[in-house]
Amino acid sequence: MALFVHKYGGTSMGSTERIRSVAQRVAKWARAGHRMVVVPSAMSGETNRLLALAKELAPASPTPQSLREQDAIASTGEQVSVGLLALALQAQGVPAVSYAGWQVPIVTDDAFTKARIQRIDDARVRADLDAGKVVIITGFQGIDEAGDLTTLGRGGSDTSAVAVAAALRADECLIFTDVDGVYTTDPRIVPEARRLATVSFEEMLEMASLGSKVLQIRAVEFAGKYKVPLRVLSSFTSWDIDLQEEAQSGTLITFEEDEKMEKAVVSGIAFNRDEAKITVMGVPDRPGIAFQILGPVAEANIDVDVIIQNVSHDGRTDFSFTVNRGDYARTIDLLMNKVIPATGAAQVIGDAKICKVSIVGIGMRSHVGVASKMFRTLSEEGINIQMISTSEIKTSVVIDEKYMELAVRALHKAFDLDAASIAAE
Ligand code: ASP
Ligand code: MG
Repeated sequence: MALFVHKYGGTSMGSTERIRSVAQRVAKWARAGHRMVVVPSAMSGETNRLLALAKELAPASPTPQSLREQDAIASTGEQVSVGLLALALQAQGVPAVSYAGWQVPIVTDDAFTKARIQRIDDARVRADLDAGKVVIITGFQGIDEAGDLTTLGRGGSDTSAVAVAAALRADECLIFTDVDGVYTTDPRIVPEARRLATVSFEEMLEMASLGSKVLQIRAVEFAGKYKVPLRVLSSFTSWDIDLQEEAQSGTLITFEEDEKMEKAVVSGIAFNRDEAKITVMGVPDRPGIAFQILGPVAEANIDVDVIIQNVSHDGRTDFSFTVNRGDYARTIDLLMNKVIPATGAAQVIGDAKICKVSIVGIGMRSHVGVASKMFRTLSEEGINIQMISTSEIKTSVVIDEKYMELAVRALHKAFDLDAASIAAE
């Protein structure tokens, strides 16, 4: 029999009634003879509620001490969830035991509010599994070497589940959530979007980082590093759905490039509205200029994404890049006050109303003309491309935000991703 880790998100754990249904689902797997570990999130809305309480009393700019307390507060949401789920399983007649992160322990570094898991001791969990118990472990939290409670950052329960699965060498980690898998694009924008039965780990990483927020990106990275087979599936099916059917549902994130994947050149269209574009104009074109502009930006801890430097005229050039929209004003300030005086650039202009649209697919490795098909499709829709960036399995363009939906729909169709154009999986 196999060992499975199930992760249930906040919505799945949203009420005692829903928790009872999670318990029934888990009991079904346990009764089929599987060894079961469950990692739940806090009940939906709970982490927000706790953080809002903390905010009322916390200092305006956080200190290491205040962040420590914030984690102590936020981690209680998951603590309640594991206890409730254990009670619900016991009520079904299934032996179950709950653990907080520190009891396992799940040891993290001491970066409060964004801690990283360093190691997991599996002895206690294995002993319980051997004794026939379902083990329920808090998502999102851990303990550092000093014995302080830590949390892994918002959405961190996904990462907890994958890390636990890696530590236990689970056969599969199943992420039960409120969507039934990974789609070719957001179905709210393209109703014809189709669920992918499989997606490669690398594609998933690109799609997660590009804003398809099904899984926390760190969870995907973790799964890749430790080769944890990961499945995203719905917790909104009736709990008594046939186990075999359930075990094959959703989207499996695979490590092998199977034949079917090779046929689909592009697997999905991702988009991201969270960026803004900044252009430094009239920069003297000389060695070291990119560093002079982006060095201070990096020092201020601002992430830079797409970068373009134009050809120069009369010894001057324009230099554009994108940053998270949340860092937009801060970046402009920094450029005006530091970079312009230091470099003698003419001016800085910015545009927050942009978006990034990307085609993603491992098939792009072995096919030519994919990017040019993307550009043609956009030009046929009259959409101007402002910036382009590529990697081995992805091409991204920056365009005016108002054309985002049009671009996504057109590309979805052009690359034959609409449901109707694909034979049954
Ligand atoms: N409860 C935490 C949050 O809301 C962690 C999680 O749900 O994954 O961010
Ligand atoms: Mg989540």
